[in-house]
Amino acid sequence: MSAPRYAVFGQPIAHSQSPFIQSAFGKAHGIAVDYRAIEASPDAFAAALEAFAAEGGVGANVTLPLKEAAFALCTTTTSRAQRAGAVNTLLRKGDRWHGDNTDGIGLVRDLTGRHGLDLRGRRVLLLGAGGAARGVAPALLDAGILELIVVNRSAERADALVDAMSEPGRAISAYWEALREQGDFELIINATSAARGGGEGFNLPLSLVNSMTTAVDLNYGEAAIPFLAWARASGCRNSFDGLGMLVEQAAESFQQWHGMRPETDAVYAQLRSRDAFLVTA
Ligand code: NDP
Repeated sequence: MSAPRYAVFGQPIAHSQSPFIQSAFGKAHGIAVDYRAIEASPDAFAAALEAFAAEGGVGANVTLPLKEAAFALCTTTTSRAQRAGAVNTLLRKGDRWHGDNTDGIGLVRDLTGRHGLDLRGRRVLLLGAGGAARGVAPALLDAGILELIVVNRSAERADALVDAMSEPGRAISAYWEALREQGDFELIINATSAARGGGEGFNLPLSLVNSMTTAVDLNYGEAAIPFLAWARASGCRNSFDGLGMLVEQAAESFQQWHGMRPETDAVYAQLRSRDAFLVTA
């Protein structure tokens, strides 16, 4: 029987750091992890996943734009994947796929562990309502934040995200155009892909920021520069990108596949030292 295989599916996928991260976790635990990146369009994803399973695939990560399609392909899912309506971690069980979403716990571990933030009682502004936002929203609520305001370019997607949280009064949607009326926030999270591929800068009202505001971009590398530049110029006390979340969500996937919790600081430091990820704020 061939060795178990792991992969990350997405489109595009060449930029993915997941093969490096999973191999590094494996090395630290003395496991030779066979983990590759597989490009698949939404139309081709189901067939690609089945072909992967037939070749010994037992675990996979799923990234843009396939997380909702992955959710639909799973026979069973965790409750956090159900609340997100999106799956980023697949585990083969017999001839079926089981799905989880580790994005939210990855972000919360990065915020509370690496960056020492106490999320309890905080007002949080979430920009975006795509797959990443759906993944992190339930985890933030579970971590004890006071209130989550969700703002998205397409208002109906923000409404749908809030409805899926089933937390009336704690998770609220608002119009992007009316951000000025929302007061200030202790945590502002950019979960949009607005800056991918060289988008424009962020122009958010200064009234969102107070003396304690932390700004986090789920993006990393060049795509994080516009939002972090806005945060710095607006006087946010603290601002950083999504590289730590990337490593933490990967650690959670690794634990589910291999039954061991990897230490993340060394892998994070290796990634951070690369030219592409030197910018944090
Ligand atoms: P989706 O495609 O599912 O959602 C994209 C989101 O960005 C939507 O809310 C969309 O709004 C919004 N958006 C896109 N362009 C613009 C724009 N020009 N102005 C305002 N809003 C815009 O992507 P994901 O949610 O999966 O990913 C979002 C980002 O988070 C990605 O860049 C991804 O790299 C990053 N990410 C990082 C992770 C990490 O581990 N650090 C994990 C997962 C994601 P609308 O609904 O109106 O189209």
